Amino acid sequence: MFHLISVGPGCGAMTQMGCRPSYPAHRSKEGIVTGSRQVRLATGIFPVISLLNHSCSPNTSVSFMSTVATIRASQRIGKGQEILHCYGPHKSRMGVAERQQKLRTQYFFDCTCPACHTETHSMAARPRWEAFCCNSCRAPMQGDDVLSCGRRGCAESVRRDHLASRLQDLQQQVGMAQKLLSNGKLEPAIQQLSWCQRDAESFLSAEHTMLGEIEDGLAQACAALGDWQKSATHLQNSLRVVEARHGPSSVEMGHELFKLAQIFFNGFAVPEALSTIRKAEEVLSLHCGPWDDEIQELQKMKSCLLDLTPTPVGSSV
Ligand SMILES: [Zn+2]
Ligand SMILES: [Zn+2]
Repeated sequence: MFHLISVGPGCGAMTQMGCRPSYPAHRSKEGIVTGSRQVRLATGIFPVISLLNHSCSPNTSVSFMSTVATIRASQRIGKGQEILHCYGPHKSRMGVAERQQKLRTQYFFDCTCPACHTETHSMAARPRWEAFCCNSCRAPMQGDDVLSCGRRGCAESVRRDHLASRLQDLQQQVGMAQKLLSNGKLEPAIQQLSWCQRDAESFLSAEHTMLGEIEDGLAQACAALGDWQKSATHLQNSLRVVEARHGPSSVEMGHELFKLAQIFFNGFAVPEALSTIRKAEEVLSLHCGPWDDEIQELQKMKSCLLDLTPTPVGSSV
């Protein structure tokens, strides 16, 4: 009962990734990829889950099916090791200061998980997914108000607020490109995104979220034009950014692999599709059950491809 009263952590927001993936598995009229956002469906009380402690870098993943919550180990958990769950503020989605503030306001504790500890003690080093790079040599920029190039012998330095305002402008330009994309103006969208990409590469780290977003936009546009090969190349670049930020076995990575599998499937790149389907299944099944829409779609794609693949000559039955 105590846990029911202190429902905080067990009081889960049941969300659904709205239209999460989606390069359509079967070519739709528009053939366009939709974006993703989390839709809050309901709030549920889960007294058993409330028994788990929080970590900003947990070793489990929670999924909901109707009113049932399932907790899966998202990595190997040793005997006697604590099973940890994330109450929302995950280290790959927000910085340590924001996480600490959210946990303090909502759950009344100061998080001392290893991720918070490491980040608090290396405050100078910002995560790669929001780092600036040197305009002349592409090395990471370091510092607080004034940033200097981290490479020995390079004298480049710049004010942080100058780069922050460049990033803001770039964000606006990317937003305009996304609008063109959703209005079906594909060629202008590609031109705009290619311009944004050149600008981004001159001051943002290669793993900056913005570069991933631009690559994802280019992948969408190419998929809509039916250029599956180019689309796959852009999506693979976007995948590298997602992996750097969220980790290779994260649910975010699973969604991206699912999109890539669809691209290969649509382009009839059979071996690439099959190996990406296998990877996507492997990652997604760490987080979701077999009833999950994406896992089911992957299985359909796999059986369709296996039916298409001729039996190698000379193989014995
Ligand atoms: Zn923490
Ligand atoms: Zn430099």
